[in-house]
Amino acid sequence: MTDRRTELAENLARVEERISSACAAAGRGREEVTLIVVTKTYPASDVRLLAELGVRHVAENRDQDAAPKAAECADLPLNWHFVGQLQTNKVRSVLGYADVVHSVDRMRLVTALSTAAVRAGREVDCLIQVALDAESGERGERGGVAPDGVLELADALAAAEGLRPAGLMTVAPLAGPYAGRPRAAFDRLMEISTGLRAAHPAANMVSAGMSADLDDAVAAGATHVRVGSAVLGVRPRLG
Ligand SMILES: *Cc1c(COP(=O)(O)O)cnc(C)c1O
Repeated sequence: MTDRRTELAENLARVEERISSACAAAGRGREEVTLIVVTKTYPASDVRLLAELGVRHVAENRDQDAAPKAAECADLPLNWHFVGQLQTNKVRSVLGYADVVHSVDRMRLVTALSTAAVRAGREVDCLIQVALDAESGERGERGGVAPDGVLELADALAAAEGLRPAGLMTVAPLAGPYAGRPRAAFDRLMEISTGLRAAHPAANMVSAGMSADLDDAVAAGATHVRVGSAVLGVRPRLG
């Protein structure tokens, strides 16, 4: 029975190899892609081991779990990313630890984030979550704004005190025309990113790719991949 540290080190090495290979195949430098390890459902002790193993970015999707974990890990040199659907009443707590919010998908959230950021005296990087399978004017089932709503949200983020539009995030759709076609989905996200950067040049982060499809995301041009189970193991429950 290998210990947890060894297991995590081996998994990290495998993920690192996948990212490096995908970068090389795409003619991209390895430094163009940042690994974010999604630690949801796993304990603070794992976060600590990951930090010891050199991980610098971690992500969580539920404030109830993330807030105490981040507090326990406050001494570690980590950047915290919030990647889950975000309710306005959780915003203040999330900004207590999150450096980057990946899931901005509606105006009310921009308003709430701005109020909380100003109160905390912070500048917060915000990614707009795109639901590639949502119809115009709608939101995705797992959150996200339809592609044609991206620019309006980016303008609102740029105008909001305490917030910066930093780029886009997506999860490859399970339904609709992109189901089972992660590469096509990520290519579409890159097109939307090009349009966004024309209006907001600094909004150049592209957060895409998870354990199953990070290779496609790197090939398409993602700057950040969010990897959970390939590093930590299959989660005991849906999270
Ligand atoms: C859980 C989660 C991930 C990581 O998924 P894995 O398949 O475990 O790599 C990435 N992004 C978001 C938004 C998630 O909720």
